[in-house]
Amino acid sequence: MEESLAKNEYPAEKMAAARAAKHTCLAAKFCTPAIWEKYKNTKSSGPAKWTMARAINTGVMYPHSFVGCHAGDRESYDEFSDFFYPVIEAYHKGFSMEVGSKLAGTASERMDPERIRVQLSASAQSKIVSTRIRIARNLSMFPLNPGGTKESREQIAAMMQGVYDGLAGTELGGQFFLHSTMSDEQRQALIDGHQLFRGCDAMQAASGYHEHWPYGRGVFHNPDKTFVNWVNEGDHIRIISMQNGGDVKAVFSRLAKGAKAIEDGVRRQTGVQGEVFMMHPKFGAVTCCPSNIGTGMRGSVHILVPKLIKAVGFDSIDKMARERMCQARGSSGEHSAVVDRIDISNWRRIGYPEFELVEDMIKCVNFLAALEDATPA
Ligand code: ADP
Ligand code: MG
Repeated sequence: MEESLAKNEYPAEKMAAARAAKHTCLAAKFCTPAIWEKYKNTKSSGPAKWTMARAINTGVMYPHSFVGCHAGDRESYDEFSDFFYPVIEAYHKGFSMEVGSKLAGTASERMDPERIRVQLSASAQSKIVSTRIRIARNLSMFPLNPGGTKESREQIAAMMQGVYDGLAGTELGGQFFLHSTMSDEQRQALIDGHQLFRGCDAMQAASGYHEHWPYGRGVFHNPDKTFVNWVNEGDHIRIISMQNGGDVKAVFSRLAKGAKAIEDGVRRQTGVQGEVFMMHPKFGAVTCCPSNIGTGMRGSVHILVPKLIKAVGFDSIDKMARERMCQARGSSGEHSAVVDRIDISNWRRIGYPEFELVEDMIKCVNFLAALEDATPA
């Protein structure tokens, strides 16, 4: 942990510098001295016994991060509400914690490919390398991973093994591999194939969710690697549907089936009758990073726009994407460089149904593909 925070002292100079800088992460913006005073001795009532110091550690250590704070358990969001609510509203522009998200139906009902009303253009289709849509989910019976223990991480992995065993014989069935036992060759092949998290991101480590690495971390995938689950990366589970090409509807449809199968499986394994995934009455899915709360969904395509990358660069592409409720990422995911492909995905996660977030992504990709076509070689 950062040295002042480790002593539960406000890192006043660093925070003042962060607030004066051109870019201020949300943690620095909203953890003012007054907020710190209010909460410095608060411990969340959930299993993580979360503190303000732990919540903002990423932002203090890495002020260039975008959000810079994490929740350690479901209770953190409400029990540090004067800090987390403004962060949530600042990230999810237009969303109000007072009003809440008010989405109709369940997540699986909203993940209906027939409800997507726009299509990828032929030009966009021809430039798409692959499509991936994921949702982040956390299990209601465990602390969020920044506040997890070695035991909680291992218990989650063991329980998920049971869930995956239950999928055997179905189209979603496959194998679960633990980071602690997979071979280096297998790990690298999965990373290169974009199916696996790297686990060595400094910003993510500062949140606490890499603690006790590699225990309890793993990846499940079917033989085609089109249905993938990450276990205990940041959130407990990332449910992922992906395939080569631009068939967004097929990817979305598999995600809907997969999400339901995992939820049913967890219910069977744990015997929990009510909510198996952490859900907040105001915003929906609870995730450890405030950027993912709500639907927890990020739908992306990897797209080849070499002329555009050369002509205007990554930052301008990201800016144009953000004007269209999307964002750009590098070729190997968040915080990675653009090698050849660029990752375009929805940026909003909250207050809009999942199919509409997919539409955001489709519209943005159509725009960028047309711009690539209009860019001289
Ligand atoms: P997440 O939001 O799921 O955490 P990251 O940005 O961390 O996503 O990326 C995770 C992995 O998924 C990376 O290997 C990234 O390259 C891969 N990925 C993301 N989108 C796509 C896509 N459309 N096709 C193939 N791989 C993808
Ligand atoms: Mg990520």
